Amino acid sequence: MRNLERELKNTIEGEVRFDDGSRALYSTDASNYRQIPIGVVIPKNKQDVIQITRICHKYQAPILCRGGGTSLAGQCCNVAVVIDMSKYFNKIIHIDPVNKTALVEPGVVLDTLQKEAGKYQLTFGPDPSTHYNCTLGGMIGNNSCGAHSVMAGKTDDNVLELEILTYDGLVMRVGAVDKEQLEVLQNEEGRKGEIYRRLKEFSQKYSHLIEEKYPQIPRRVSGYNLPWLLEKGGFDVAKALVGSECTCVIVLEAKLKLVYNPPARSLLVLGYPDIYSACDHISELMSYGPIALEGIDDVLMSDRNQKKIHAQDTQILPDGKGWLLLQFGGESKKESDAKAQKMMEVLQKRENPPSMRLYDHPEIEQKIMETREAGVGTQERVPNEKGWEDSAVPPERLGDYLRDFRRLFQKYEYECALYGHFGQGCVHTRIDFDLYTTEGIAKYRSFIDEAADLVVRYGGSLSGEHGDGQSRAALLPKMFGSELIQGFREFKSIWDPDWKMNPGKLIDPYSPIENLRLGPDYKPVKVKTHFAFPEDDGSFAKATLRCVGIGKCRRNENGTMCPSYMVTKEEQDSTRGRARLLFEMLQGEIIGKNGWKDESVKQALDLCLACKGCKKECPMNVDMATYKAEFLSHYYQGRIRPRSAYAFGLIYWWSRVTSHFPTIANFFLTHSFFSRFIKWGIGAHPKRSLPRFARKSFKKWFFQRTSSATGHKKVILWPDTFNNYFHPQHAKDAVDVLEHLGFEVSVPKVSLCCGRPLYDYGMLTLAKKNLRQIMKELKKEIHDGTPIIGLEPSCISVFRDELTNLFPSDMDAKRLKNQTLLLSEFIHFYAKDHSFKPLNKKALVQGHCHHKSVIHFEYEKEILQRLGLDIQILDSGCCGMAGGFGFEKDHYDISIKAAERVLLPSIRNAPLDTLIIANGFSCKEQIEQATGRKVYHLSQIIKMTFNG
Ligand SMILES: Cc1cc2nc3c(=O)[nH]c(=O)nc-3n(C[C@H](O)[C@H](O)[C@H](O)COP(=O)(O)OP(=O)(O)OC[C@H]3O[C@@H](n4cnc5c(N)ncnc54)[C@H](O)[C@@H]3O)c2cc1C
Ligand code: SF4
Ligand code: SF4
Repeated sequence: MRNLERELKNTIEGEVRFDDGSRALYSTDASNYRQIPIGVVIPKNKQDVIQITRICHKYQAPILCRGGGTSLAGQCCNVAVVIDMSKYFNKIIHIDPVNKTALVEPGVVLDTLQKEAGKYQLTFGPDPSTHYNCTLGGMIGNNSCGAHSVMAGKTDDNVLELEILTYDGLVMRVGAVDKEQLEVLQNEEGRKGEIYRRLKEFSQKYSHLIEEKYPQIPRRVSGYNLPWLLEKGGFDVAKALVGSECTCVIVLEAKLKLVYNPPARSLLVLGYPDIYSACDHISELMSYGPIALEGIDDVLMSDRNQKKIHAQDTQILPDGKGWLLLQFGGESKKESDAKAQKMMEVLQKRENPPSMRLYDHPEIEQKIMETREAGVGTQERVPNEKGWEDSAVPPERLGDYLRDFRRLFQKYEYECALYGHFGQGCVHTRIDFDLYTTEGIAKYRSFIDEAADLVVRYGGSLSGEHGDGQSRAALLPKMFGSELIQGFREFKSIWDPDWKMNPGKLIDPYSPIENLRLGPDYKPVKVKTHFAFPEDDGSFAKATLRCVGIGKCRRNENGTMCPSYMVTKEEQDSTRGRARLLFEMLQGEIIGKNGWKDESVKQALDLCLACKGCKKECPMNVDMATYKAEFLSHYYQGRIRPRSAYAFGLIYWWSRVTSHFPTIANFFLTHSFFSRFIKWGIGAHPKRSLPRFARKSFKKWFFQRTSSATGHKKVILWPDTFNNYFHPQHAKDAVDVLEHLGFEVSVPKVSLCCGRPLYDYGMLTLAKKNLRQIMKELKKEIHDGTPIIGLEPSCISVFRDELTNLFPSDMDAKRLKNQTLLLSEFIHFYAKDHSFKPLNKKALVQGHCHHKSVIHFEYEKEILQRLGLDIQILDSGCCGMAGGFGFEKDHYDISIKAAERVLLPSIRNAPLDTLIIANGFSCKEQIEQATGRKVYHLSQIIKMTFNG
């Protein structure tokens, strides 16, 4: 291993990581399985991949390529050298709009290709639910497809040519070859000629078995793609390799077919009494030419309600307990609607027609499709719902298959939701398998045997979408027979005679109950925590199991999650990577031998901005900001923290002291020599300006003012450290606004702090103490139900989030949480009918991450609109400053890159008369320091309306 690592390091341009942390990071995909790789390499280019393979061949080390790592059947984890193609090897080389083709490197993410192809009204047809993260290499590996395979087929139907690399070092381009070309190719000297000779012999030897054993259904994904090697398959070697799950070759480049993308879409939903009767009509409905035909049952919808995920979704569906979602495409909405209406007219005349709803609201249509899309892998934790989740049968037999399938669940007493790509007979299931206990695992093993028998009886495929990997491969003999399985061995051997490409997957596999990520031996270390993790039954270990691996946190754009991944494109800087390392830390097998003192976990958490983006946007609500705070509190126990932790973490205390001599402090903070020295002393980056203290704090002003208004209701304005000591004008304006609205404003006399900055540095004992003090000092107001109004979103998020996680059974904590509101929320609830003088201006709004995650950001939007502003809310994610993070020397670059992604260019491009609005201290600092544009707080904007 050492020699292999050394030689790789000396040879390739990319990165070579054989350390325990990196190996732990890549130990699993989105499946039930876990295998620790030999090492991880991240190639920069094609030449790197060739060198890696040559060196691995020399040391006879197995190889596994990886894209987004979202495989569900275990084909993307192995004891192998993992080649991560996603970071660098990800260019779209060329799009040819005339011939409708694209040439791509394997690490290109599907959404990136779709965006480029979309410029020509083209699209790559197969669209898995993981489109935001899955790569073309991974899609080719798995023969992926999605809702629109009705329109455009699976990946194999859309691959024209591949440039491939074999384990023994041959690079060649493959595609369809006619008889004459094959003749020429098989006569070539060397390995290439040998491959073609053997492929020809192979196809002749097995043609009758391939004809006989491969089901003629739209969603046959199981097994090697051998029908493409038959004459009627065009002897298409590229297509035959699609779906080979890296067990044969490495894909270096792919030429893909693009298809026309109808610009207008209409969604029609049909409701039936149950999912079975819905499926009895599939064949007829398909004759109306939908571009997608999906199905969902009532169990899936009720589960969603229970978990309060998209609870409103059920209300927008027509009556029924089983629904079919039909999407029609057209040049115009009129055309696509007409197609749907034609079908509705025919159905309406039938006896017992289904309930029907044709939607005309793009947002609702998207929501319904996303509800279906979000089905797989997002409700239950690893490994519960995976293991049998994508069988496919002939669509015309789907209703009967599902009836028998349901009987099988009942026999095994499994609960199950049914949904999927019903137009093509592909069924997704969510079954609550018990893969923790020996009995549960034995029951699962027996179930999948019977489930496979059932599919085969219906002429179907064990996998209709996700591939065989490890979870289905052992069952393949049931579908293909032992003779053809021998053919699979021979096919693999043609490409990989050393049997080193992703061994133990797809063919001659590990057992489906081997290498389980949890299994009966799963016994995480029990740890004592500061946070109570009430939603995880008080267990930090359970919290680390939340991540199901689907990789939404590896998006390149849209939303907040995950700003550090968006910048670095590193697995360890994604929420998933961090969650995995925390899981591995508690396993203590490869990392975590020093418990909380683990360096690889520390390193992975280092770039977490604690933005809470994941808490809201991850389908499993992974709450990395909290895990990070918990981890750091233990990591630093008995150790000195970095200087910046004491500088920024304790800013409340520094500010209290400094507020007695702000002018002197500001002199030193802004003086070129002294400020350089101070920045060095507190670990800040030299390019940062340190915020200046206000001459008079807000509280001083408040208690010295001579006039105040008495209102009809008493409220407390929360004087957070930032608005109290740095931006008192925001708080002063807030007092004016609240009094103007008829409230009597009070401010706590004693000095209090919610402790927000402490969380970022894991100073949880102190943070807890602060909260205890607040609850003690404000006991009366808490019991009186006095609203507490905040101006700084990150501080209010402490009351809304951390507070009850630290004091889960304290009723005062619950009361305080419910009584604390951000200014816009307060106005939404308590000044509903107040009409403001319209400002009639344009505004750009940077929402604070915590505001969007744990506070009602929609009320901010509402209030800004009530102020007569024409607002644009930036989809810029985290501003990158995130408290002390962006000030710190080691984080400055990442901070700026995060801000330069969308936020700063948008601000620079905004006309000067556009108002820039941001409530967060960090967002304001980042924008003002980087662009020089003035940023307003909501309180200031409302105050402007007083003057017209
Ligand atoms: C929640 C969820 C929903 C899903 N929905 C769908 C769906 O709708 N449709 C669908 O088809 N799948 C779906 N999947 C499965 C998976 O997301 C897709 O198969 C996806 O296309 C895999 O892409 P990836 O980049 O993550 O591949 P990876 O998991 O990284 O790799 C997939 C396979 O390809 C191999 N591979 C990767 N790169 C190369 C290369 N350069 N050369 C050779 N082999 C390579 C890998 O070794 C592996 O065997 C879903 C998964 C999840 C978790
Ligand atoms: S952290 Fe959330 S979004 Fe990321 S992979 Fe895990 S479950 Fe998916
Ligand atoms: S808190 Fe923010 S930076 Fe940290 S993992 Fe979650 S989304 Fe990423």
